[in-house]
Amino acid sequence: MKKRLQWFFILMTAVLAAAFVPAAAFPSTAEETAAALDETDVHNGWINEKLGPGVARWVDEDGTVSKQPGKKEETSEAQDQQEDTEPFAKERQIDPAQPMVALTFDDGPYAPVGNEIMDSLARYGGKATFFVVGRRAPAYKTELQRMVAEGHEIGNHTFDHKYLTKLSKAQIQSQIDRCSDAVFAAAGVRPALVRLPGGLKNQTVLENVKAPMIMWSIDTLDWKTRNTEKTVRSVMSQVRDGDIVLMHELYPESGAAALEIIPQLAAAGYQMVTVSEMAKYRGGVVPGGVYSRFSR
Ligand SMILES: [Zn+2]
Repeated sequence: MKKRLQWFFILMTAVLAAAFVPAAAFPSTAEETAAALDETDVHNGWINEKLGPGVARWVDEDGTVSKQPGKKEETSEAQDQQEDTEPFAKERQIDPAQPMVALTFDDGPYAPVGNEIMDSLARYGGKATFFVVGRRAPAYKTELQRMVAEGHEIGNHTFDHKYLTKLSKAQIQSQIDRCSDAVFAAAGVRPALVRLPGGLKNQTVLENVKAPMIMWSIDTLDWKTRNTEKTVRSVMSQVRDGDIVLMHELYPESGAAALEIIPQLAAAGYQMVTVSEMAKYRGGVVPGGVYSRFSR
């Protein structure tokens, strides 16, 4: 009997060890995050980017790590109190009295470029509008879902980038509807705005695209030059409050340009907003209307 009891204790010890060892060997995400924070020796820089998109945290010169991903910490006491009482995701604040610009990226989705752009926007609290081609949506579901999750706007750039001026009334409607359906199937939202391929329009197009049509006020010609520096200069040399900037998601040079443009616009005091956000503060849009900028 005594021997049996001994075996019982040995068995129990083994069971307990088996139960606790794996838990210690595979720390939770929170523990991993804490460990990653401890390990870094970053000051005045961004860390944690390898943990995934949108989770980079800012470390100030004292080694204080920002609580919210993509945001530098505000140090005033009032801000601290606000941070403690509010939920993690704060409501987006746009100051209508301050300058704003809408960056738009056409012809995607294309994750290798789009994700970089979104990483950069997350750091500077900016949002953009991605006018996507419906046919490409199923291949980039994750990227489209990220756009929605992070507050970017998905616009309709037709199902397969046909020039609508060459199509019949029924074909035009089909191009718009099929893109909308593809975006909805991939990301659960329907685009409210349309960008016409090539910006081409005629009377049939104007009468049959039953959504606001968004043109642009700054044409970077990024697709033509494929030159990062020229693309950056084209934006920074002429940008004004209310501008809509046309760029393309398909080219790495355009992505690289966006990574320079975004911090420069932020430094110049521009709020980077979606087209719908800008329209909301600048007179709104109506179905069938054509817009190339939103002045105050
Ligand atoms: Zn296009």
